[in-house]
Amino acid sequence: MVRVFTEGHDYYYEVADILANYCGRNEIEFIKEKVPAAGRSLFVHSMLRIHPDGVKVKCNITGEGRTVMKIDRFGPAGGDRLEIRKKYKRYVKHNLLRAAEEFSGKKLPWGILTGIRPVKMVHKLMDQGLGEEYIQRHLVDFYRLAPEKARLGLEIANIEREFILPYDPERVSIYISIPFCPTRCSYCSFPSNEMVRWGGLADAYVECLMGEIQAVSETMAEAGLGCDTVYIGGGTPTSLGLSQLERLFISVDKAFIGPGTREYTVEAGRPDTLDGAKLGLLKEHGVTRISINPQSMNAATLERIGRKHTPQDIINAFELARKAGHENINMDLIMGLPGENEEMVANTLEHIGRLKPEGVTVHTLAIKRASRLHEEVTEADWVKEEEVKAMMQRTSNFLQAMGMTPYYLYRQKYMVGNLENIGFCMPGYQGIYNMQIMEEKQTIIALGAGAASKLVYLPEDRLERKQNPKSLEHYLDRAKDIAEGWRETIFQLKEALRL
Ligand code: SF4
Repeated sequence: MVRVFTEGHDYYYEVADILANYCGRNEIEFIKEKVPAAGRSLFVHSMLRIHPDGVKVKCNITGEGRTVMKIDRFGPAGGDRLEIRKKYKRYVKHNLLRAAEEFSGKKLPWGILTGIRPVKMVHKLMDQGLGEEYIQRHLVDFYRLAPEKARLGLEIANIEREFILPYDPERVSIYISIPFCPTRCSYCSFPSNEMVRWGGLADAYVECLMGEIQAVSETMAEAGLGCDTVYIGGGTPTSLGLSQLERLFISVDKAFIGPGTREYTVEAGRPDTLDGAKLGLLKEHGVTRISINPQSMNAATLERIGRKHTPQDIINAFELARKAGHENINMDLIMGLPGENEEMVANTLEHIGRLKPEGVTVHTLAIKRASRLHEEVTEADWVKEEEVKAMMQRTSNFLQAMGMTPYYLYRQKYMVGNLENIGFCMPGYQGIYNMQIMEEKQTIIALGAGAASKLVYLPEDRLERKQNPKSLEHYLDRAKDIAEGWRETIFQLKEALRL
């Protein structure tokens, strides 16, 4: 048990976020008074004091017969109330992490950047005109990143800038959600509905979605907004039948695809949804990038995570895609799946080496509360942190030896080992949508059930989120209102850009 007493601040969420990397979240208890650590429990005292000439933060961690104390001083925090509060939170996290690192001997690779996208932070500093040397030092000293993670962040930001600059508020990307899958994977936390149970609603869903697509495209044209990239994801879009897909693609072509569209991606994730006809249809409609996602090439793992297909099915689907003319194929892998070891990862990589996709996105398993895995596995079944790190390293080395480089990166909560997800690709095959959604400098208009839009108000450096209903039935019930609602949202966005 870790008992925490905060003095001069109430940043419970931020404190718990740091401590959760050292103990289970449910072992953290915030208390109202100072008590000595007893038995196996630890006591954390985090304090913030504001003086006219600056801010003092102090953290004591006591237990196991010893105490670690860290004191930091910062100059007065400038900015409005919100900015000042953000800075104080960072000071408290920084100070707490220094104490926790010394007490435990364990460093966090991404330092205090828990809820923050590391590369977004690098872009922010670059946009202020700061040089790479300064940014590297700042990430290491203030955000407490491991030097190699800071370098990775800079490397990725530099690649991304070739694709996301100049920021253009008049161009948006479109995300289209197809929330159906053949079966539900045990680690899934996405809005996805099993076809066996919900497939009967697929026709109605495509109709409603087409209504939303048309409403958005007409309003975009009126507002003078152009389409940069289109991404059809889910779920697994190719769970839809051939004629449903065809109707959808015709509507997307008409609505969004034009000479200015730089990328058109469709997630063809599960091989059990693919055949030559569907892959041919994707090609016919000008899809420029697809994803076929094995996650692992080990049969036992696929079965354990609820995927009803074999590694051979992946190989067959990949070959069919090549035959249909797809020249930009990404494959997703997950490190740290229950029961996997480094040898099994090596086996997956051997297959990747033979298939030669243009891109591989490497995820670290995140056990989210909404997933079945969260119920099914206990902490004892998780692959150990050190092993997941070794798997990540091996995979990264392997892909780089294939000629790929990392080009986008993001982190999620509850990731094993506090690691990251990294997109690798061969030169010239970067997924532009992936970079845009991560760096949040371009509006993403997301359509369909469960779709989450990000409306970027560039002049104000502000982001608004807009969430469509997650439930398929609610979406179908409200589809007409949702489609009509886009008019107001898009014109609001456009109006704000004029100011
Ligand atoms: S394929 Fe993806 S969206 Fe579908 S159930 Fe599995 S993890 Fe969820």
